[in-house]
Amino acid sequence: MKLLFMGPPGAGKGTQAEIICKEHSIPQISTGEILRAAVKNGTEMGKKASEAMNAGQLVPDEVVIGIVRDRIQEPDAKNGYILDGFPRTIEQADALGKMLEGMGQKLDVALNLDVPDDELVKRLLERAQKDGRADDTEPVIKNRLKTYNDQTAPLIDYYQKKGILKPIDGLGSMAEITDRIRKALA
Ligand code: ADP
Repeated sequence: MKLLFMGPPGAGKGTQAEIICKEHSIPQISTGEILRAAVKNGTEMGKKASEAMNAGQLVPDEVVIGIVRDRIQEPDAKNGYILDGFPRTIEQADALGKMLEGMGQKLDVALNLDVPDDELVKRLLERAQKDGRADDTEPVIKNRLKTYNDQTAPLIDYYQKKGILKPIDGLGSMAEITDRIRKALA
């Protein structure tokens, strides 16, 4: 099963992706996690990415496209995966489509977790207090939401047109949302 998890920052993509991945024994491929690891390890890629991340902007398309191209060819991704936080631009989505076509693969479902902006800001500020992620400060959060609305939200329409979009109401308890996702995938 090859899935995309889309949704604004703070929608709960990462948490839900982790649960669904475990249930299906497939890897969760989170470009955000991979980039944060690169920043922490001080790699060349991390150095290039950190400025954009700390400003709430997107890392250049070619960087994240390269990450995903390498990662989906690993042996553990053979039977499927969840892409969490990728694609985030139309260019990334087009590149992914070409990549998969070249590998004889296709996406099964693009899930979109829908959460209103005021709830997102509240959740992200709560998370900021708990885990202290460098990009969870109010001005950066606002910028991430703007980046999402400008560059990533158009992907909802993009995957709707491809006929694989499944919208999920992202308001409710974690368990309720997991259940909605399971039903959408059944
Ligand atoms: P969130 O969904 O909470 O914003 P992520 O962990 O998915 O967090 O991403 C954190 C940051 O990493 C983003 O704000 C962005 O700078 C960078 N990033 C992650 N994925 C991508 C991507 N596909 N394209 C460009 N930048 C990305």
